[in-house]
Amino acid sequence: MTIILGAGLAGLSASYHLNHDCEIYEKQEHCGGHIFSHQINGFTWDEGPHVSFTKYDYVKELFAASVEGDFLEYHMHPTNYYKGSWVPHPAQTNLFAVPEPMRSLVLESFLSSRSEEPDRKPANYQEWLELAFGSVFANEFPRAYTVKYWTTEPANMSTEWVGERVLYPQVEDVKAGTIKAPEKSKNYLTVARYPAKGGYFSYTNKLKAGAKIHYRKKVTHIDLQKKEVSFEDGTKVSYTRLINTLPLTEFIKMSTAPLDIKQAAEQLSCSDLVLINVIASHVAPIKNQWLYVYDMEKYSTRINFAESFSPANGTPGKTGIQVEVYFSKYREQTESLPVIIDKVCDELVEMGLLKDRNHIEEISTRRVKYANVIFDLPREESLNKVYDYLATCGLVREEDDLAPMTNWHKKLENGKKLGSLIMAGRYGEWKYYWTDDCVMRGLHISKAI
Ligand SMILES: Cc1cc2nc3c(=O)[nH]c(=O)nc-3n(C[C@H](O)[C@H](O)[C@H](O)COP(=O)(O)OP(=O)(O)OC[C@H]3O[C@@H](n4cnc5c(N)ncnc54)[C@H](O)[C@@H]3O)c2cc1C
Repeated sequence: MTIILGAGLAGLSASYHLNHDCEIYEKQEHCGGHIFSHQINGFTWDEGPHVSFTKYDYVKELFAASVEGDFLEYHMHPTNYYKGSWVPHPAQTNLFAVPEPMRSLVLESFLSSRSEEPDRKPANYQEWLELAFGSVFANEFPRAYTVKYWTTEPANMSTEWVGERVLYPQVEDVKAGTIKAPEKSKNYLTVARYPAKGGYFSYTNKLKAGAKIHYRKKVTHIDLQKKEVSFEDGTKVSYTRLINTLPLTEFIKMSTAPLDIKQAAEQLSCSDLVLINVIASHVAPIKNQWLYVYDMEKYSTRINFAESFSPANGTPGKTGIQVEVYFSKYREQTESLPVIIDKVCDELVEMGLLKDRNHIEEISTRRVKYANVIFDLPREESLNKVYDYLATCGLVREEDDLAPMTNWHKKLENGKKLGSLIMAGRYGEWKYYWTDDCVMRGLHISKAI
């Protein structure tokens, strides 16, 4: 029997593509995992901002069919808050909005960085940033944001995850951007889709129909030799094939893996997200769907407006402000949640996103224990060791299993068969997967077994 651990998007997609000829075990009372949408007092809150910007037509069509074509499609135009100024995104090609003398300092250091050793390979993300932007911009903007969002110094991060996500600008674009905004956005994320109703979770509709999901089944032990999974309620299930979407770190900890493999898995790092959801009794003061906050002393890292994704997410005349604050083993939480909420409210007022505290109608919070896999320098070696061990338990190593991202067109053509143990999803594979990757992994699994 094929069993799937976890009914998030990766688990649902694997089940759907196996024609639901499998059983899913999920600890919560609902499916969807990270893409569940919470309906609270007239507002729909996703677990952090979720939009679909997939390039895969297959996923576009599947998501569209899930909501019977009832989705919204629009241009994304995030913005940046930097020490009292609003800088359009991406900041590196919109320096006109950065106040002097910083603008000139950034340009000078950028131009001199481009005249040095053009073929030098960066050893880490800090070096990548300095080569791309010059040290002044690198430290004021992306380094500051990295420490808040990725929770570690860019010098402790690798570069292979960057891809198109951070714009490597052309000299002419940076120079022109010191005078005025470019006519066409240079952002990688331009057009996105979102369900008209029900939040991002509505995109699971097609995948979950017909799935055999056993809810409130928290996995507590995995015997990789006996091929048996135990649950918190004392029950057990045997498998001939296991598809795991639980965080790899937890999977290994609960398994019969030896101590050195458990120690290797402990080296894998992930951020922990605190979401602070504020309903204000006024409309959003800016039209951007979200913004990035570069000020190091502020908890607020990324901020979005729930109703900007779909009017059905909110209530007319009000705004739902969602603030993301990140922690991890690298950036530990040192203040209590009430203190953090209090400071975040002050920050929202300072940035002009909340008129004043009298306009706060409601505050709710949510903790997302696994948010972003951190592409720190120890990741690859630890992951390799864990995968080598799992290869003795039925897992087939894949060419790109250590890479943060996957090219699905290439992978679907590859034709390599998978074994009796398969990892799937952002946390199961410890990758930089978006929702489309989780869907494509399910399709790939069905073709590779
Ligand atoms: C803040 C944030 C913003 C994001 N924004 C976007 C975006 O804009 N666009 C996009 O495409 N992607 C986005 N993503 C990525 C996207 O959310 C993930 O790629 C995707 O949801 C991961 O799905 P998954 O199935 O791999 O994992 P999960 O959703 O984590 O599913 C795993 C499931 O396993 C269950 N589980 C865990 N432990 C146990 C246990 N012991 N026993 C039984 N069940 C268990 C969980 O409850 C969960 O249902 C974002 C992610 C974050 C964190």
